[in-house]
Amino acid sequence: MQQIIRLLAGLTLLVGFGPSTALAQTTERPIPYPVVPPADFQAAVQNGTRTTTGEPGPNYWQQWTDYTLRARLLPEEKRIEGSARLLYHNNSPDDLPIVVLQLIQNLHAEGMARNRQAEITGGIEIERVTVADSLLTASHSQGPLISQVLAFVPVDRLSMFVGRLDPGYYVEGTTMPLVLPTPLASGDSIEIEVDWSFTVPQRGAPSGRMGWNADNLFHIAYWYPQMAVYDDVVGWQIDQFLGNAEFYMGYGSYDLTVEAPQGWMIMATGELMNAEDVLQPNVLERYRRAHGSDEVVHVLTAEDIAAGMATKVSEAGPLNWRFHADTVRDVVFSAMRKSQWDAVRTPVGDLDGDGTTDYTLINSFWRAEAPLWVKEWDYARHSIAYLSKWTGFPYPWPHMTSVEGGGIEGGGMEYPMMTLMGDYTFPNASERALYGVTSHELAHMWVPMIVGTDERRYSWMDEGTTSFNGGYASADYYGQPTPVAGNSMGYLQVARMGAEGEIMRLSDFHYPGPAYGIASYEKPAMLLNTLRALLGTDRFDAIYQDYIRTWAYKHPKPWDFFNLFSTASGQNLDWFWRSWYYEIWTLDQAVASVTAGDGGTTIVIENHGWVPMPARVSITLENGETLQDEVPVEAWLRGATRAEISVPAGSPVVRVEIDPGQVFPDIDRDNNVWEIDSND
Ligand SMILES: [Zn+2]
Repeated sequence: MQQIIRLLAGLTLLVGFGPSTALAQTTERPIPYPVVPPADFQAAVQNGTRTTTGEPGPNYWQQWTDYTLRARLLPEEKRIEGSARLLYHNNSPDDLPIVVLQLIQNLHAEGMARNRQAEITGGIEIERVTVADSLLTASHSQGPLISQVLAFVPVDRLSMFVGRLDPGYYVEGTTMPLVLPTPLASGDSIEIEVDWSFTVPQRGAPSGRMGWNADNLFHIAYWYPQMAVYDDVVGWQIDQFLGNAEFYMGYGSYDLTVEAPQGWMIMATGELMNAEDVLQPNVLERYRRAHGSDEVVHVLTAEDIAAGMATKVSEAGPLNWRFHADTVRDVVFSAMRKSQWDAVRTPVGDLDGDGTTDYTLINSFWRAEAPLWVKEWDYARHSIAYLSKWTGFPYPWPHMTSVEGGGIEGGGMEYPMMTLMGDYTFPNASERALYGVTSHELAHMWVPMIVGTDERRYSWMDEGTTSFNGGYASADYYGQPTPVAGNSMGYLQVARMGAEGEIMRLSDFHYPGPAYGIASYEKPAMLLNTLRALLGTDRFDAIYQDYIRTWAYKHPKPWDFFNLFSTASGQNLDWFWRSWYYEIWTLDQAVASVTAGDGGTTIVIENHGWVPMPARVSITLENGETLQDEVPVEAWLRGATRAEISVPAGSPVVRVEIDPGQVFPDIDRDNNVWEIDSND
């Protein structure tokens, strides 16, 4: 998702970080102690599914689901009627007496726990559940909620608890545990069928991640009973959906059929399998031509729509649109009847290793009421091509579709192969803002869509990485310098105010105010830039691309990310993770004094903040020569707050500056510079 973080104008005073040189000289600062992963991660290392080097272990496993989904869109009633057949493959070493589905729409049911306001629609109505062709009944646990027990009781100790439960389906908030008639054995698969329906909220899940704009659009996401993730570290990850923290989803294949009245154009996650059945011939011809075109093709124009030219027209009633997607974590679809359709291909690199360039199709659906969208196809085309290179991982899917969602979404939301973004008609909306949200949402195709992080707990792993990636795409599109940590104005202001929360707080449990946004978006993006400056760009880029390749279509945890970077850089970076991710320490390096003597000049560097970082010092001599020196991070790791640099006698020192490139996020730059004219 795109968060717009407003800078807190006028709050540039240092609150709680007043001049403290004397204090810093005499007070021990904390020493960043090692990162100790939680017990469940350590157990996974013992079991060989994770490692201490940041790669998946030799015993790594993941569940898989083959979905056959059918959705009937009833635009007048604003209803979805769905049926699903799920083939769930238990690749884990565990026998599972209970499997769990997610019912995200239940955020909109009466009486739900939420941390954001949501429309009440009644949530999802489950009409039929079968397991291996036998009907399950609706049940309620007389004791503790099953979803609570699963969070605390290891699966191999569940039998006593399960013995007291009847087989059935148990709707518990946004989850639906199924107590199976017989446990699903390790290595086996189970077929689950569900029929359901729900009323589509106008701005749903909860505020524009899905919904309708009656005039034009239904954007249907978080709409089907989806397997919750059972992983090798936490078991069933079934933290309730409270509205803010986003999603954790497993991988699978999808066959989707959307039934919609004629005149509604459907686009969805996956390849459109029956274009010839649903598009009018001239529209079909343009759609096919766009696949090979480097020039934008107006597949559907405003005139076509006015003339009723979009979809096939027949006596046969509603159209069935069929899509197929493989190795994705979700499917969504948009139904539109007034949106124009632009399409163009864009290069993604060599996807299949045959030495030639591969392409994906860029689709942009938008209304004339959203004029900035006229070039959306170009923003998306650039973002996908650029990010394929930047991440070293070619965009793997057949299309990338941007949908203008005025009236539903104001910023942007990401789904595999799809994004829903605002109309960008608000005051001060600019092409640049639309480019920015486009590159952000499209960067999400890499994280969390390809690198399958757990957003429900660790929003920083996808939002931070995505903000980082999007920043480079924007810089490239506009021909501007690449981002540096010292430009992170939102973070710096919030850090100076002391209004931060720790990055490693779980996504739904941040302090009010700017803490969630800073800790999820800007600060972790800034830290990737900091790490890039620390390790060197080439080295960082190689490690970063290795992280994406290593964890593509898998589920990394924070400690995998930390371990991979520490191992690949050949350094124990625990001090970096501890200081920046677990604490809200800040960086404030200062030139304390510059003293000339017979033997040369002594420069004293002080660390006023608690984050240890190397101090990169640029020293200018009277003769114009510039020297570079670095106080290594080791100088601070035992609690020291002062370090000295000696400059040999010769031309006098006239200027000293710490981090002139502003590549580190120093919260007070005024004390980074010493000049002979302004000092004794
Ligand atoms: Zn985002």
